[in-house]
Amino acid sequence: MGNSSKNLIVVGQGAAGLAAALAAAQAGSGVHVTLVDKAAEDEAGGNTRWSPSYMRMAAVDKVEPSFVHDMLAATKYQGDETYFATLAHHAPATCKWIAAQGIEFIQPTYYLAKGPPRIQPLGGGPAVVKQLTLAAKKAGVEFRYGCTALAIAREDDRITGLEIDGNGKHETLPADAVILCSGGFEGDGAKMREHFGEGAEVMRLISPGGKFNTGDGIKMAMDLGAEGSGDWGGMHAEPVDARSKNSAPVVLVYPYGIVVDKNGQRFFDEGGGLVHETWEWFARDMQFKTPGRIAFAILDSRLLSIEGYERAIRSEVPPARADTLAELATLIGVDAEGLARTVATYNATCTGDPAKFDATRCDGLKAGAQLAPPKSNWARAISEPPFLAYPLVGAVAYTFGGLATDERARVLRAGSPIPGLYAAGEITGHFYATAPNAVSVLRAFVFGRIAGVEAISFLQAS
Ligand SMILES: Cc1cc2nc3c(=O)[nH]c(=O)nc-3n(C[C@H](O)[C@H](O)[C@H](O)COP(=O)(O)OP(=O)(O)OC[C@H]3O[C@@H](n4cnc5c(N)ncnc54)[C@H](O)[C@@H]3O)c2cc1C
Repeated sequence: MGNSSKNLIVVGQGAAGLAAALAAAQAGSGVHVTLVDKAAEDEAGGNTRWSPSYMRMAAVDKVEPSFVHDMLAATKYQGDETYFATLAHHAPATCKWIAAQGIEFIQPTYYLAKGPPRIQPLGGGPAVVKQLTLAAKKAGVEFRYGCTALAIAREDDRITGLEIDGNGKHETLPADAVILCSGGFEGDGAKMREHFGEGAEVMRLISPGGKFNTGDGIKMAMDLGAEGSGDWGGMHAEPVDARSKNSAPVVLVYPYGIVVDKNGQRFFDEGGGLVHETWEWFARDMQFKTPGRIAFAILDSRLLSIEGYERAIRSEVPPARADTLAELATLIGVDAEGLARTVATYNATCTGDPAKFDATRCDGLKAGAQLAPPKSNWARAISEPPFLAYPLVGAVAYTFGGLATDERARVLRAGSPIPGLYAAGEITGHFYATAPNAVSVLRAFVFGRIAGVEAISFLQAS
């Protein structure tokens, strides 16, 4: 059979799907490549569209020597070393390839605290979606919007089509291979509840793109016997301003003050690590453990003298502000006596030298050992009015549980690839315990590209 009569369908127009479709089309084999997305054109792009897309690279052509080790440590050594070694190996060439599509990379300033080196596409996720879509169209990819993938059609063990709902019309598109890039299941309340327990179904999505990621691709592959992988009890979540209606209004200054619940009680070590090391569990604890699923970062005027503090606040709503803690408590609806007691206890343990305070690193300025829960860094008394507060809720960015894939992005069933089926990005498992910082877009690009190239080789050989 000539290649020209073969069809490859990519599901999802995020970083993974775009990289896959573009790489496949650029392979120039004559295979017809179609990318379907369930969203309308002006909303498609999933989480990628809303993501700043920081990528954990020392430079466009370099990963840190400790990359694979860091990935395994983040997954508490449950991750697949071959997967992360493949990611590290292909990352530089993939980033150069992305750059060649008209995307400029910069070395961004991050929030406040430092951490691993990162690069960022200029213009973030929106620029990624725009430029890669242009490049893919130029390379001949056909785009279909409002087109929800429902199931993979097969004869014997050979893929023959993709069942879709295209703007209300059910049809089967011919397909000889399929690449699934349709994200996790954060947009499906019932699945969230199934995996994370009560309250997960009402967890806020950090950005509008997440609502389309309802685990469809995971189910479609599992209906074919695909194995699951990754931590089904894991998700990436961050604290956001409860009052903001914007996308990702994160408030990441909480390490420099304290966080209390509605009763005015602290419930975790706000200085337990750099902000990207504590945000996930803080956000989860708010959602699942605090009364009313809300908490409050309490700070004083010294926040305003931290150089660049605004970088760590992406809410458009100013903090509640008052000259006394009692007034602040009334403004935010927190028990005033509880807050007064908590702040007094905390302040009494802040006996370290405030001159040691350094917001950009773990400064070792810890509260006295009698404080429970402890505060391991940035422990300065909250004593200089005006006092400030941000009401915070946990918001989910993406889920970890997904499909098992190998280093060639092939979807696995009982340890062997399902012929013609590939997956990349958030839909794949591989993350456990906590999200490795700034790796989700990078892996979507790398394994998306691998999937595109592999699918074409498969079609050429079959
Ligand atoms: C606010 C925010 C900030 C982030 N910051 C970073 C960061 O700095 N660095 C980083 O690495 N990661 C970050 N992430 C995570 C990262 O952006 C995503 O995990 C990544 O972009 C996912 O890419 P993807 O292609 O796998 O999925 P998505 O980009 O989510 O794309 C999935 C696509 O599949 C489509 N789809 C779903 N179901 C179907 C179906 N049945 N049929 C057809 N189409 C379907 C959706 O409409 C969507 O367009 C952030 C995420 C958010 C939301």
